[in-house]
Amino acid sequence: MRITVLGSGTSTGVPVIGCSCEVCRSENPKNKRTRSSIYIVEDETHILVDTTPDLRFQALRERITRIDAVIYTHTHADHLHGIDELRIFNFLKMGPIPIYSYREHLEEIKRRFSYIFDGKSAPGGGKPWLIPEEVKENEPFKIGRLVFIPLTLYHGNMRVLGFRLKDFAYLTDCNRIPDESMEKLRGVRVLIIDALRYSPHPTHFSLSEAIEIINVISPEKAYLTHMSHDFDHEKLKNELPDNVEPSYDGMVIEL
Ligand SMILES: [Zn+2]
Ligand SMILES: [Zn+2]
Ligand SMILES: [Zn+2]
Repeated sequence: MRITVLGSGTSTGVPVIGCSCEVCRSENPKNKRTRSSIYIVEDETHILVDTTPDLRFQALRERITRIDAVIYTHTHADHLHGIDELRIFNFLKMGPIPIYSYREHLEEIKRRFSYIFDGKSAPGGGKPWLIPEEVKENEPFKIGRLVFIPLTLYHGNMRVLGFRLKDFAYLTDCNRIPDESMEKLRGVRVLIIDALRYSPHPTHFSLSEAIEIINVISPEKAYLTHMSHDFDHEKLKNELPDNVEPSYDGMVIEL
């Protein structure tokens, strides 16, 4: 299984428009963070997690030519508003793309992007062709031969869809992980987790909160994502425990 970090940045991306801080001015490519997303490839199955406003750029950069399904963690703009870019993957696949999420997120996607689902023009006629597939909290779901275990996370009051896939887990946009989800994370070897900045935030884990969770789960390796311009990649890397690293755009994890 191959996991590519398409984006590792918070909702603004890094650099932040108009900001002249050291990280935003840095020439280190690892300090350039597009909005958070990953791409998973296993055998013949190609899965995108979230469609960020940077999706077109991310897909070109990583030479992605196939998406068999999309998993939506939630519907904040930084995870959803690249949805129209899926159109080209319908052309490439010559068929519809299923989109998986919790019911409230699918409802919100249909409301916000009603033109995609209004049935007024034939599929393929200038808009994405997407098939909503509801994920239920305690029911693993299958895409191709891959079995995903849904993990409910809380992002303030919002229920976010995290997941476990074999020994890997993806936990973005959260500041609380309920006990039932922690239970399902037992034995995970590699995980990617939200760590927004040094100071606390009402809906995201801060760095120290993320490290506390990592210590409980105790994976072989944990990577941080959804990072703001608070973090300089090299400086942060030196501050972290041995099994924790900041992720970066284009990073590949082979499992
Ligand atoms: Zn986000
Ligand atoms: Zn900045
Ligand atoms: Zn969010």
